[in-house]
Amino acid sequence: MNNQVQEPQPKPGILEIDMYVPGKSKVPAGVTPHKLSSNESPLGPSPSALEALAGIGNRLQDYPDGQATALREAIAARHGLNPENIICGNGSDEILSMLANAFLAPGDEAIFTEHGFLLYRILTLGAGAKPVVVRETDCRTDVDRILEAVTDRTRIVFIANPNNPTGTYLPANEVKRLHANLPGNVILVLDAAYAEYVRRNDYESGLELVSESSNVVMTRTFSKIHGLAALRIGWAYGPRKLLDILNRIRGPFNMNSAAIAAGAAAIQDRGHVERSVLHNEEWQTRLTEGFEELGLKVTPSVGNFLLVHFPKTAGKTAAEADTYLTERGFVLRAVGGYGFPNALRMSIGSAEANLGVLKHLKEFLD
Ligand SMILES: *Cc1c(COP(=O)(O)O)cnc(C)c1O
Repeated sequence: MNNQVQEPQPKPGILEIDMYVPGKSKVPAGVTPHKLSSNESPLGPSPSALEALAGIGNRLQDYPDGQATALREAIAARHGLNPENIICGNGSDEILSMLANAFLAPGDEAIFTEHGFLLYRILTLGAGAKPVVVRETDCRTDVDRILEAVTDRTRIVFIANPNNPTGTYLPANEVKRLHANLPGNVILVLDAAYAEYVRRNDYESGLELVSESSNVVMTRTFSKIHGLAALRIGWAYGPRKLLDILNRIRGPFNMNSAAIAAGAAAIQDRGHVERSVLHNEEWQTRLTEGFEELGLKVTPSVGNFLLVHFPKTAGKTAAEADTYLTERGFVLRAVGGYGFPNALRMSIGSAEANLGVLKHLKEFLD
């Protein structure tokens, strides 16, 4: 054996993964940055979360509670759930990753949609399994197409509801129909990162469906409406049997003390959440109308972001708009990697940021 030519090789599938590219935040020196690229909250976190965070400063030598009890109980109380059916993660990303690691092996398949959240592909390939990508209809998840793609090797169906980056959602009756037609050994993962923003009577985040089934897991995050993306806090609601499996592979101290304390405080501040929802509702409408007046097209969104398309008639491309806006401090998200080469995703920001984007885009397109 010649040790010189040997080198470490990853598992099959790993080299097929395109690295996840996070939303940019760089603007030219001297320009005020408005980061609208990662769907973060323009209102920031609840003051009570900040207070809780300050309170842990004198106990940094202690390991955190490995069960994240205070956080699980606060979430359970807020939603009327049993804390035994809740697991927390270092961001909901970690929970999605635990699901892939526990349930996907080489030869298995995981289904998600063509404009679905990019992480599903990364996690599927990372587990050595095969991504099965299903077409959407008008930027919407298509239940019939998902059901057609199910084989006896399917183990997980990942759905972001609402979806990122399209902002569209699947109504509760469609989610139910999907679940009713899936084999019992397939896990339906409902990634409800934006659930709190949705104001539609026919939407259900997954709380009901999880309660009635043995193969559905709903994930949520504190990164969006709770304004705590920096602390990395996510949670899932699921059947005990499934969570017991995830708890076997979970890092024993995956939640740090800052996340546990701030998250538990944040979820109790309903007023703060309500203010975020109202701000979002107002600007969802104003921005959509504003973009349409400029001749751009917006996919109808129920989340805290908008997918803005630059049709040929606008005379300019999304890439040109991205450069123009970034030079002026407004950082949106290019979504070519999501299959939208001529669109930008904009997080709904502060009034100042939103008006700034509309003003500069008008100048740019005129
Ligand atoms: C932002 C987002 C998440 C949240 O991830 P965290 O790890 O909790 O920050 C999950 N799913 C989707 C679809 C998202 O857009």
